[in-house]
Amino acid sequence: MAISEDGKKRLDRKVNQVSAVLLPLLEVGGIAYTSYVLVYLVCVQYLMKPSPGFGLEARNATGVTLIVIYCVILLGFAVTFLRLLQVIWVDPGLVSRGDPASEKKTAPMDYFDRFEAYICDHEGYPTWCWDCHNWKPDRAHHSSQLNRCVKRMDHFCPYAGGMIAERSHKFFVQFCFYGFLYTGYVLIVMAVFLAERAEKLDSTPGTWVAATALGGIFFLFAFGMFCTTCYNMALNYTTIEALQRDGTYNIAVLKTAAPSATIASAGKANIVYEFERPPLRSYVVLETERGQNPWDRGALRNVKDIMGESVWHWFSWKMSPCTAHNDPRGEYIWGPAVSRLIEEHGAASARRRRRRGSRRSSEA
Ligand SMILES: [Zn+2]
Repeated sequence: MAISEDGKKRLDRKVNQVSAVLLPLLEVGGIAYTSYVLVYLVCVQYLMKPSPGFGLEARNATGVTLIVIYCVILLGFAVTFLRLLQVIWVDPGLVSRGDPASEKKTAPMDYFDRFEAYICDHEGYPTWCWDCHNWKPDRAHHSSQLNRCVKRMDHFCPYAGGMIAERSHKFFVQFCFYGFLYTGYVLIVMAVFLAERAEKLDSTPGTWVAATALGGIFFLFAFGMFCTTCYNMALNYTTIEALQRDGTYNIAVLKTAAPSATIASAGKANIVYEFERPPLRSYVVLETERGQNPWDRGALRNVKDIMGESVWHWFSWKMSPCTAHNDPRGEYIWGPAVSRLIEEHGAASARRRRRRGSRRSSEA
């Protein structure tokens, strides 16, 4: 029996949802197994209480120190993982659905009226989601796994338990950081004592080899993920935006919300369209240069927008500053390139032009 397109989507969604529960459970199982091998078999049995047949001296200080460091890193990892799961399950940044009867050409656009600029198509419409029947805020994408649009969507990560987006991104970075710290520590401790045991006792127990291999594989994975995530974060790209980094953006810039203003931007660079939205608003649609990221404000500022203002915040449970949405100029704070365009074409520039015009007429 053939499965319909909708059926395939539903099946796909189910598979993703199940893997986002199963993989974290498997990870917890892996951590429990590694803890048993590293803490009990290596630290307690091999270092602190070696069998008399081994002919080795007890190394209590080494064993205790290794266990304490292991517990501290594991605690950081576990707490971070719980916070990440909590945000992913409660709300990673979901956009509300629209009325199923609403259409792109007639749907109200009040949401965008509070901004001086927003991402749009070549006619000045914000991006429409045909599945959610609603506008997509800047940087939002439709997730086929959640069947919802998600703000500043990055990717769906079944290893982390679900959607990495505006609200969960910071905790995902923390999760990757503790993940590579934890797996790196396991890898080093296991590799050192496995090599020592092989040399002194000519034995390599399967449990030790398995824990070393697990540490190695997941270290490579977590470290790679951490580096990629930090690199994109420093450039202020989501994973989706990084894949489309050579493209351009159309940005609708509010010229004025006053009825009498004249439109005087013809002939300026980057303009693809001009339009008015009754009763009062007039806009100019500008195209960014190829490869220009509208939200890039410099590496440190970009990192702080996600992680927090101070290093203390980077490790805390506090939400990312970018979730505050308190800038009247846009959904997210624009980078200097777009700020210049707003200055040049937007309402402030129209007010300056009007002031200059009225000065000239009063002098005449
Ligand atoms: Zn959607």
